[in-house]
Amino acid sequence: MTGMVLKGISASQGVALGTVFIYRPSFADAAESFIESGAVEGEKERYREVCEIAAAQIRTIHASLAHDKPEKAKIFSAHLDILYDPAIGEAIIQGMESELWTGGWAIQKAYGKFIDIIENANDPVIRERTVDLEDVCKRILRIWYRLPEKNLSSLNAPVIIAARDLLPSDAATLDRRNALAIITETGGAASHSAIIARSYGIPTVVGIPRLLESLSQNGFAAVDAIAGEVFPDPDNETLKRLTAKRTRYLREAAEIKKFSKRKPATADGKRIDIGLNIRCASDEELAGAACTDFVGLFRTEFLYMGRKDLPSEDEQFMAYRKVLEIYGKRPVTLRTLDIGGDKRLDCMETPKEDNPFLGNRALRLCFAYPAIFKTQLRAALRASVFGNLHLMLPMVGSIDDIRRAKSIIEEVEDDLDSGGIAYNRDFRLGIMIEIPSIAIIADLAAAEVDFASIGTNDLCQYLIAVDRMNPEVSGYYQSFHPALFRLIGNVAGHFNSAGKPLCVCGEMGGDPYAAAALVGLGLRKLSMGLSSVAQVKRMISRLPLMAFEEIARTVQELPTADEVENFLKQILG
Ligand code: PEP
Ligand code: MG
Repeated sequence: MTGMVLKGISASQGVALGTVFIYRPSFADAAESFIESGAVEGEKERYREVCEIAAAQIRTIHASLAHDKPEKAKIFSAHLDILYDPAIGEAIIQGMESELWTGGWAIQKAYGKFIDIIENANDPVIRERTVDLEDVCKRILRIWYRLPEKNLSSLNAPVIIAARDLLPSDAATLDRRNALAIITETGGAASHSAIIARSYGIPTVVGIPRLLESLSQNGFAAVDAIAGEVFPDPDNETLKRLTAKRTRYLREAAEIKKFSKRKPATADGKRIDIGLNIRCASDEELAGAACTDFVGLFRTEFLYMGRKDLPSEDEQFMAYRKVLEIYGKRPVTLRTLDIGGDKRLDCMETPKEDNPFLGNRALRLCFAYPAIFKTQLRAALRASVFGNLHLMLPMVGSIDDIRRAKSIIEEVEDDLDSGGIAYNRDFRLGIMIEIPSIAIIADLAAAEVDFASIGTNDLCQYLIAVDRMNPEVSGYYQSFHPALFRLIGNVAGHFNSAGKPLCVCGEMGGDPYAAAALVGLGLRKLSMGLSSVAQVKRMISRLPLMAFEEIARTVQELPTADEVENFLKQILG
């Protein structure tokens, strides 16, 4: 019994008590090391055994994919070819025989050499093979060092997941039935992993210094994700207190949930449309169609993440079509690929950057790789005949960006026309407002597009110049900053007077207190993860529109984020 408390940032509310599972993605890295000359034969024999185990694993994966996903299966046939590539094999054996390197070091050196050669090839198709070589190398090193293959997609029992860091792809494929809570050392409340955890309703605390060294594998812990606290091995008093808090929280959550199916409107009947933020076209995510008016944000980049190949046009078409069909006449806002920052792809090698959030991200990356962008646009336009497509461009900083994207879209339309492929010419084109430059010229932007959606997660990061991922500066990431409300008010004024629909699809839209102020600022559309829908509907229903407008006026006049937040919490209860 220690009574120790670790403090972090609450990223998704709730309370959990349970067994700790420390997640360390296994990554074997060999160090330079040598063997005696008499040990060479034994090392070579071990290498052959390791190859056999690796081959058996790869064949199993291949067989599981061959029928339903032949395209993916092909990758694993290529992995077998790499595993038995004579040139790589020879380099490994030679490393052991001539340099007396240990097997692990010989494998790493040989693969490293071939990866370097391929990375510098002129042909981009050959360069793409680097990820496959890395994958095979990691697999055989993992077997060599007897490390288990780990991810979070299947957990044996309900656990509190503790990790140094959680990638968005880890969070997206997480076995959520068995995730009692998530606690991490890094990350901020606006990181994509936190957003995913929130949409699942999993209690989450991020940015907890020295977390892993304070926990033991399979130990017991209590997580208060309302206060942002973690108690390793809690004493009886803490256990009692948190058990009661959990019961209270679950009771309130059940009360709030009753609002999820209601028509969202203010107390005097002004209708506010509530949208759903999704990452994929799974039935689980689309269950939200029953209680939302539209899809406000389809983060399509998740279709590209956690895989070794780019999704084909047909695969994307099927996913987009499914969402469009389910929503019927209701708008589906499909955001084009938004990669970069904390979202990286395994299937695409992008250069390392010092400031990835300010770098070749999202639309900029699509301009740099037009073939990838066009494949997505073709898939989206082809799917447009099945519903009400709203195509949305992320990370727009200027009118030039909009015009450049439009001309690429026109090229895709021409291609479809000349191929006689049907699409709905009336699809809507919009932008995300998440860079201050475009928010400031919202009047000019409104004239160029059919609609817009405010990405408050990035708008806050770029407006206040604070990294949304870095727990060291999380205190500066102030989503209740009066400047943010003033800027959003400016955008809303321009879009409303131009008669162009405007939404907020960043996390502020799903925060009931911020949502109250946003309605007062003139927003009539808010989009959020499913777990926030009921609480926002309840908040909106509590007051007449005029009261929200009065609240919004005050919020823009208060000097600090703390004062704004305290005012909202006090007045809204
Ligand atoms: C945003 O920036 O607010 C947004 C919705 O996009 P993302 O969180 O995916 O960057
Ligand atoms: Mg964004």
